[in-house]
Amino acid sequence: MSDHSNQPNESPDPEKTGTPVPATGAAMGNLDTHSARYAERTAGMTASEIRALFAVASRPEVVSLAGGMPNLAALPLESLSEEVARLVTEQGQTALQYGSAHGVPELREQICEIMALEGISAHPDDVMVTVGSQMALDLVTRIFTDPGDVVLAEGPSYVGAMGAFSTYQADVVHVAMDEHGLHPDALRGAIEEVHGQGRTIKFLYTIPNFHNPAGVTLSEERRPEILEICARHGILVLEDNPYGLLGFEGRTYSSLRSLDPDNVVYLGSFSKTFASGLRVGWVLAPHAVREKLVLAAESATLCPPTLNQMIVSRYLSTHDWLGQIKSFREQYRERRDAMLSALEQHMPAGCDWTRPEGGFFVWFTAPEGVDTKAMLPRAVTQRVAYASGTGFYRDGLGTRQMRLSFCYPTPERIHEGVRRLANTLNEELDL
Ligand code: PMP
Repeated sequence: MSDHSNQPNESPDPEKTGTPVPATGAAMGNLDTHSARYAERTAGMTASEIRALFAVASRPEVVSLAGGMPNLAALPLESLSEEVARLVTEQGQTALQYGSAHGVPELREQICEIMALEGISAHPDDVMVTVGSQMALDLVTRIFTDPGDVVLAEGPSYVGAMGAFSTYQADVVHVAMDEHGLHPDALRGAIEEVHGQGRTIKFLYTIPNFHNPAGVTLSEERRPEILEICARHGILVLEDNPYGLLGFEGRTYSSLRSLDPDNVVYLGSFSKTFASGLRVGWVLAPHAVREKLVLAAESATLCPPTLNQMIVSRYLSTHDWLGQIKSFREQYRERRDAMLSALEQHMPAGCDWTRPEGGFFVWFTAPEGVDTKAMLPRAVTQRVAYASGTGFYRDGLGTRQMRLSFCYPTPERIHEGVRRLANTLNEELDL
């Protein structure tokens, strides 16, 4: 989506840039004659602020720092299409057939090899393939939460996860972070407060590596401490790790799952390291939990798409996928550097931002008095879009914050987008 680059137009982003809604029905102001029929839980299903932004952010003249789409330009499309054709010719009877709810066995073995890169030792039986990790978020919430239960989550947190929590009428209580990630004291404080209200905490949802949207990483020192606090209070940990292999500084962190296999449910995905449109992710869970998840998955989808799983599996066995991840890392590092240097160069005094070691996002704090949600239409007039901060909280925080993505636009576009954003802020601050 660019006025100068040769990138394709941005299409709907499952990361929650969302699909533009056609101008029919409610959008035309028609009354919903079904409103009395909906289940209570639909009240928690609200359109995310980021989704609402998609229509404007996808205009070609706007530099979108809003979405979270991976940049797939580096994928070897020609050899991939040959492999897909070969797959259908050689194994079409299996690839186009129903499979098990558990997932294709060969892929589950390969997933275990991938997780070993982050210190996880797992048996393929304890892995279940899902339709992206988004489906795993839905299933885990479905099997663990009753209406009114509390889920702890970093503040800010991933929009899609909070959407799943509110669909099942669970309440999110945020836990503060700093530049080293989730704060153990804040976690203790939140647990004490929620328990003091006589409420049940079902799990802690955390994105330890290259956080979406905060761009910070949980320090190695804090990891055992966070796990110890949760274990002591009987709180399960849901570790969401789609970006773990996309670190820019040549280091990988010990996954929480590797440190406490019995109390951590781990989510992984091929969306950021291969192809988000195939919708292949996975969940690794203690055996009994995994069995419950398979039952829940059967009622949702019968089985994940066999063809897509086999495409991923074949890609892993025929391509240099580690080399591909390395090239993604280099590309995203260049874009991160472009964003950080543009912010340094253009932003007025009083602004602050995180300096991510990996992943896709910078979390930006504007000076006192700026309301990033109110400013957004003025930013779009200046032809730049971002995701305003309040959408990443359930408690009204985030008014001065915004998420800036560096994953999709080229470095030149990032620079131009940040320049436009700084102009908008200067006008807002009357500078
Ligand atoms: N968790 C996080 C933190 C994410 O950023 C995303 C996608 N943006 C997801 C889960 C969902 O990923 P997918 O369903 O594509 O695997």
